Amino acid sequence: MERISQLNARAAGLDAAGIITLAYAEFGAKVSFATSLGEEDQVITDLIAVHAPAIEVFTLDTGRLFAQTYELMAKNQKKYSRLNFKIFYPETKTVEEMVRAKGINLFYESIENRKLCCHVRKVEPLQRALADKEAWIVGLRRDQAVTRTSLEPVEWDEANKKIKFNPLYNWSLEQVRSYIKEHNVDVNPLHAQGFVSIGCAPCTRALKPGEGIRAGRWWWEQPDQKECGLHNNPKWKGHKRE
Ligand code: SF4
Repeated sequence: MERISQLNARAAGLDAAGIITLAYAEFGAKVSFATSLGEEDQVITDLIAVHAPAIEVFTLDTGRLFAQTYELMAKNQKKYSRLNFKIFYPETKTVEEMVRAKGINLFYESIENRKLCCHVRKVEPLQRALADKEAWIVGLRRDQAVTRTSLEPVEWDEANKKIKFNPLYNWSLEQVRSYIKEHNVDVNPLHAQGFVSIGCAPCTRALKPGEGIRAGRWWWEQPDQKECGLHNNPKWKGHKRE
């Protein structure tokens, strides 16, 4: 896609703040930032507050998040009060019907149930959040997984049919953490307890020493079945992902 190549050529010489600024210059109100309140997302929120505060910042509240995640959400709303925060929820009726038919913890029963829950609580709200957007910003990094080593600053998101900006594409975890320290960015206290990637409470656990990042999510499933549909990309077909 020619537009992606052009944007990548412009993004190549830019740092994370520059990529965020580029996204806003190109798309204005048609770009938003999706935060799950992880460390990378907290860095991007902080950068947006400084460099492009008009960018909409949205979160998907699945209704099953950790109490600590809600506390961080509330802190963000106070600290970055000039930002335009939006929280998207699953459709009440669909959740009620799903829980009535399959139980509150349906995801432990089968892969189909787990994917259904992820669809109802995450994918459908994401589709609504992105409905009037042409592009979105996310906190993916190349060294998060072998499937992400070729991540570009700008990509075509085939699953959502949007342009995706990855301002931290070439950052290491150490860079993320030193930014957090240097800029006094708030993070989820669960990180200090061994949680690396923090999602829904019933589906996320702390990592044991030596375990890969994916071991902390849906640990009762086979590795190749783990996906929730938020960052599906055909070029990663067959690989594990968020
Ligand atoms: S991560 Fe678990 S609780 Fe959250 S939406 Fe997916 S299955 Fe449901």
